[in-house]
Amino acid sequence: MVASSLLLRAAAFRPATTATSRCLSHRSATRLFGSLPRSPAAVIFDMDGTLVDHSIDFASLRSRIWEVVDDDEVGRTFGERECVLEVAGKLSPEGQARCKLIFDDIEKKAVDEMSLAAGGPELIRYLSERKIQRAVLTRNLERNVGIMAGLYSDAVCDAGGLSGDGDVFHHVVARDTPSDPSDPASEPVRSKPSPDGILHLCRLWGVGPSEVIFVGDNANDDIVAANAAGCGGSVLVTPGGVERDTHSGYALGESEEDVRLRTPSLRVESLGELMERMMAEAEEDPSEGDGDGGEEETRRAGEGTMVYDGGGFSVVVPSIGVKGV
Ligand SMILES: [Mg+2]
Repeated sequence: MVASSLLLRAAAFRPATTATSRCLSHRSATRLFGSLPRSPAAVIFDMDGTLVDHSIDFASLRSRIWEVVDDDEVGRTFGERECVLEVAGKLSPEGQARCKLIFDDIEKKAVDEMSLAAGGPELIRYLSERKIQRAVLTRNLERNVGIMAGLYSDAVCDAGGLSGDGDVFHHVVARDTPSDPSDPASEPVRSKPSPDGILHLCRLWGVGPSEVIFVGDNANDDIVAANAAGCGGSVLVTPGGVERDTHSGYALGESEEDVRLRTPSLRVESLGELMERMMAEAEEDPSEGDGDGGEEETRRAGEGTMVYDGGGFSVVVPSIGVKGV
C-alpha cells in the first residue's frame, strides 16, 4: 500500500502567466500515464463540448464578462484575471446581475442549439451493458443537464435501450448542485478544475477515483480536475484532433507539475473512438504485463502516487482512505 497521502493544492490551479494550453505529447503521455483502467467502476462526463457538441463561444463569454468587471466599482479593484464564473460572483450586486444576464443568454443559445456528440448514445449503451456507472460533472446548470439527459434518453432508447441498470446518468453535479445531498441550502460543489466534484461522486458511489474514467474537452478544467482527483483515466476529446477554445479565463501555470496535471492519459477524437478503446482494453489479456512495477505500471495522479505492488495498484483516496485497485 502507498504510505503517502493525496494532498490537494488549490494553488496548483491558478498561479501563472499565460492562457495558452501546453500539454505533454500524446506519445509521451501514453507512455508515462498509461491509458485506461481495464474494468472501470464508473465514467464521469463533462457536458458542453463532450456529451453535446461545442456551442458556447468562450472568447465572447470572457470578453463580455470582463467588460462588466472593468465597469464595476468592485471589479475595477481586481488584479489578475480569474475564472469568469468565479469573478462574476465577487462583483457588486449590479455587476452580478449583469453577468447573470450574460450567462443566461449564452446558455439559452447553447440549449437551443444542443446536439448530441457523435457516438455518445452508443457509448452510454455500451457502459450500461457492462454495468459501469455514469455521471455528469459540469459548470452548466442542473436544469440544462436535465434537457441534455432527456435527449440522451431518447437517443439511447432508439439505439436499443439500457440494460436495466438505472438511468442514462446516475448522478449529476452541476455548478448549482449542493455539496450536501441532504441539505439543498448547502454550498454548491466547487467547480472544475477543483477535483471536489469527482471526489463527491466517488463518495456517492463508494469507489476510489482510480476506478473512474473522466472524459472532457478542456485540458485546463477537465483534465486538471481528473488528474488532481487521481482518476484512473483522464480522457481529452478533441474532434478532428483540434483542441478548442473552452478556457474560462484564469491564468495557467507553466511549471512541470502544472503541465503534468493538464496532460490527459488518452486523447480521442470522438466518444465513438473512446468506446472502441474501452472495448480493446476490456479484451486485453491482463497477464501480458510483466508486473515489475516499472514505468509502464506506475501511474501518477494529482499529488498522490499509484504504484503497482505486484498484485495491483494502490492509492490513498481523500476522505476514503487507502484503496486497493
Ligand atoms: Mg466542456
